Amino acid sequence: MATVAFIGLGNMGGPMAANLVKAGHKVVAFDLAEASRSQAEADGATIAQSAAKAVEGANVVVTMLPAGKAVLSVWQEIVPAMDKGTLIIDSSTIDVDSTRKAHALASKHGVLSVDAPVSGGTGGAKAGTLTFMCGGEENAFQTAKPVLEKMGKKIVHCGGAGAGQGAKICNNMILGISMIAVSEAFALAEKLGLSHQALFDVASTSSGQCWSLTTYCPVPGPVPASPANNDYKPGFAASLMLKDLLLAKDAASSVHASTPLGVHAASIYKSYEDAGHGGKDFSGIVNFLRHPAVAP
Ligand code: NAD
Repeated sequence: MATVAFIGLGNMGGPMAANLVKAGHKVVAFDLAEASRSQAEADGATIAQSAAKAVEGANVVVTMLPAGKAVLSVWQEIVPAMDKGTLIIDSSTIDVDSTRKAHALASKHGVLSVDAPVSGGTGGAKAGTLTFMCGGEENAFQTAKPVLEKMGKKIVHCGGAGAGQGAKICNNMILGISMIAVSEAFALAEKLGLSHQALFDVASTSSGQCWSLTTYCPVPGPVPASPANNDYKPGFAASLMLKDLLLAKDAASSVHASTPLGVHAASIYKSYEDAGHGGKDFSGIVNFLRHPAVAP
């Protein structure tokens, strides 16, 4: 069973590392935050004194960090310390440009690399049911797959370096836009005197059907497990949705793609965050859209 080094033990990385321990891997972990290190130790990981120490002797390294800058700085520290022919996987959601720079660094040092951002949120991280969207060469992907299968239920090879991040950013742009569309429809339906359940019953079996409606309904009632029934506690925080929409905007401008609704969705979530709601679930945008005075 491979020895795995895990760097970045936050809301996502902590439970992902715990699932690797449960699956029988030796996990050597590091995080800047003391609380995250203690939790990982309680979950059965061995704690290293630094990221570079954690990767010594590891067959596979996983990073799960907040942004591209952190990933590049950690990879610059650890990749030169890794054995040739071993594998590094980045599961953070970051910009495509930084991902490609990280792959190039790994290649320079003879280390296999995969970008493997996830969808499924903290619930999927705990349950081991994440979807991994992977970019990298075929042999790197095949080496990564058995490890990713311990943390997720669907592992998709999307293409070469950066293709996983590309898929993640495009998927979340659809999600951000569709949540606003569903929220606008409920806000309009309320003013037209329709009940939430009536709109749900029609749209969920009609052409308006989508995940934002049927699995993650932004108003309380029709889907009991959605964050709307729990005061919009995340789930997936609005600030993370904004992060992903801004990554999509940057990616679009770098390749001259036209994404007018993606750009507009980013501006709506930015206003929501500026109004102090970045920590709420992103489906809370429905409460913002009800008030034309504050919503754009
Ligand atoms: P988080 O902020 O909870 O965790 C990030 C961890 O990285 C923190 O514990 C922090 O101390 C650590 N860290 C930062 N810089 C470091 C460094 N230089 N060395 C070592 N550790 C360092 O974030 P999260 O929610 O776990 O998200 C991680 C990534 O997953 C992000 O890129 C995010 O966009 C993505 N993601 C999050 C979710 C979600 O629902 N939370 C869903 C999908 C994807």
